[in-house]
Amino acid sequence: MSQKSVPPKAIPALPKMPRPALPPSLPALARPLAHLEIRKRDRFGEGHFGASRDGGRRRHMGLDLVALPGTPVTSPLDGTVTRLGWPYGNDPSYRYVEVTADAGLVVRHFYVAPEIGLGRRVTAGETCLGTVQDLTRRYPDITNHLHFEMRQAADPACRDHRPRDTRGRRRNLYRGYSVIDPTPLLFIPA
Ligand SMILES: [Zn+2]
Repeated sequence: MSQKSVPPKAIPALPKMPRPALPPSLPALARPLAHLEIRKRDRFGEGHFGASRDGGRRRHMGLDLVALPGTPVTSPLDGTVTRLGWPYGNDPSYRYVEVTADAGLVVRHFYVAPEIGLGRRVTAGETCLGTVQDLTRRYPDITNHLHFEMRQAADPACRDHRPRDTRGRRRNLYRGYSVIDPTPLLFIPA
C-alpha cells in the first residue's frame, strides 16, 4: 500500500486526565507549615512519598517538608494528641507528635519538639504542635525537614496505637495500619 493513497488519520486527542478525586473519607489537610516544599535530593535521599530508602530495600512511607529548625508545626486536622514518641530508640532528643483525627486518621509529625500535652484536643490550621528539630546532628548536611506520615487506623475509634497487652508489652498496631500518601491532600491540584 502506497503511503500516498492513505489519507492521514486524525490522531485522536488523548482523553483529559481527570483530576484525581480525593476519596470522600479523606479530608483536605490544613498546612502543617507556612511554606510547603518537598525535600529535594540530598546525600540521604529524596523527600517524596515512595522515595527509595536503604538502597532500595524499602520505600519512604511519608513526605518530607523542608523546614528550618525552630519552625512551628500546626496540626493539619482536628483531633487529639495521642502520642508523643521517640523516632530513634538510641537518641531521646528526637521526638514525634502523633495526632488522631475523629475518623481514625493518624498523622505522625517527626522531628518535632512537642509544645503540647498528650490528650490535648487540636484544631486544624490553628493548634501549634511544636517546632521542627535540627536533624543535621544525626545526619550531617541533610536538608532539615518535617517528616509527615499518615495512616488509617483499623478501628476509627482507637486512640492508642501502641497499647499494652495483658502482659504489659506494647503492641504496635500503627505498623499494620494502611499507609496514605499525604501529597494530594496537601498539594491539591488547582
Ligand atoms: Zn521522611
